[in-house]
Amino acid sequence: MNLLERLAAIVGPGNVITDAAGLAPYLVEERGLYRGAALAVIRPGSTAEVAETVKACAGAGIPMVPQGGNTGLCGGGVPSEDGRSVVISTERLTRIRAVDPVDFTLTAEAGCVLANLQQAAEEADCLFPLSLGAEGSCRIGGNISTNAGGTNVLRYGNTRDLVLGLEVVLPDGRIWNGLKRLRKDNTGYALQHLFIGAEGTLGIVTACVLKLFPRPREIATAMVALSELEAALPLFARARAASGDSVTACELVPRIGLDLGVRHVPGVRDPFDTPHDWMLLLELSSSRPGGLRDALEDMLGQALEDGLAVDAVIAESAAQRADFWRIREAIPEAQKREGGSIKHDVAVATSRVPEMIRRCTSAVEAALPGVRVVPFGHLGDGNTHFNLTQPEAPPPNGADKAAFLARWAEMNRIVHDIVVGMEGSISAEHGIGRLKVDELAHYKPEVDLDLMRRVKEAVDPRGLMNPGKILR
Ligand SMILES: Cc1cc2nc3c(=O)[nH]c(=O)nc-3n(C[C@H](O)[C@H](O)[C@H](O)COP(=O)(O)OP(=O)(O)OC[C@H]3O[C@@H](n4cnc5c(N)ncnc54)[C@H](O)[C@@H]3O)c2cc1C
Repeated sequence: MNLLERLAAIVGPGNVITDAAGLAPYLVEERGLYRGAALAVIRPGSTAEVAETVKACAGAGIPMVPQGGNTGLCGGGVPSEDGRSVVISTERLTRIRAVDPVDFTLTAEAGCVLANLQQAAEEADCLFPLSLGAEGSCRIGGNISTNAGGTNVLRYGNTRDLVLGLEVVLPDGRIWNGLKRLRKDNTGYALQHLFIGAEGTLGIVTACVLKLFPRPREIATAMVALSELEAALPLFARARAASGDSVTACELVPRIGLDLGVRHVPGVRDPFDTPHDWMLLLELSSSRPGGLRDALEDMLGQALEDGLAVDAVIAESAAQRADFWRIREAIPEAQKREGGSIKHDVAVATSRVPEMIRRCTSAVEAALPGVRVVPFGHLGDGNTHFNLTQPEAPPPNGADKAAFLARWAEMNRIVHDIVVGMEGSISAEHGIGRLKVDELAHYKPEVDLDLMRRVKEAVDPRGLMNPGKILR
């Protein structure tokens, strides 16, 4: 029996995809940056089938690429071009094994779509707070493997903070059962953390125990026009203090981000009568109803008096709240429609975000006159999507998307040098994948890289699990 026949015997012939049309969606990455090739896509339906699949591939010396919803932004879930690997998709691992509102836990298989888990939590009158633009298609195993962030990190933490236990198929096919519901467990190394954020390089996550929270009963959302970028910091601090630390989102929206949204994405409207350079989307929530809206209104009134804010609108309905969020969520899509974008997902200490934005903006504008800087995102976490849109001007600087994108590495170096010089991170929430392998090698201290390589060698000595990702 050859490998594909063995795999078909394990998962069923219908779950071994080898035809070009069937393979295509698994081989291209979200932004079209990478187009890989594969022997096959395998779709196991249980942990045992994942384990048998991995054993068979390992036995044949075949590299494996785990894949969830394939919404990752660094090419981590896409196989290389050599066509030697198999993609192991978790899309049939979609069972929710348990929802426990007493333990405040949810136990689910890795292929569950994030939005379905949010829904299951809500049905138990709980909240699973991980929330991001791709939640309708990303899968929890992918979220765990990229340690996804999103819009609620401020209050609830990254995915790492939301995981209590994991079940993982190791690169040799053994199953590691760490599927615990414990809040406390100090019995040596916390092994689950090895696999969180490992981008599939250490094994395949097959199931997880997630933390739930009480469901919010009151949500107050405002779009605030800032007097200047720097005003975001005291405003954010005041919102935390005034609301009993109930701020769940604090997202920065620049003028150009809103303008591009209005131009390209249906339903995006400027909530203000006059244009403002910098806006902050603030959201407060609490499981105890009453008082949040008033607290927000008072805080904003004072901020207007003190000159931190120049205008503010509080959402009066769920529809208006959705409108505010649409402004924020539309920015990446609008940028895509505007032409080429060079992206940076960087973090610095929250207090240094305005300085970082100003320094990076000056530096990239000096290097590439006409470039349009679109810095937006999770200000409350110190995480900025410092994205660049191609110049509007005619060639040589503008109009030519390919010429602009050819400067990707140069722009990365400028921005990342400044960010690392400010003790920041070159990848705050999207991971490394293939896209940032060289950047990681360039910026990570040698001791860090050495430890990471040793972990990889210990868990995956033959280097068959998602090779070429994170580490060279
Ligand atoms: C519109 C949009 C908005 C986004 N917003 C955010 C955001 O706000 N914050 C954020 O952090 N990210 C964001 N992302 C990026 C992306 O959605 C996340 O990285 C998500 O967590 C990836 O999940 P996935 O199931 O699509 O993983 P995939 O893309 O399939 O895989 C991502 C990585 O995880 C590995 N992997 C997947 N499943 C497993 C598994 N079961 N076991 C082991 N390894 C696995 C893959 O090999 C790959 O390296 C966004 C993406 C889009 C398209």
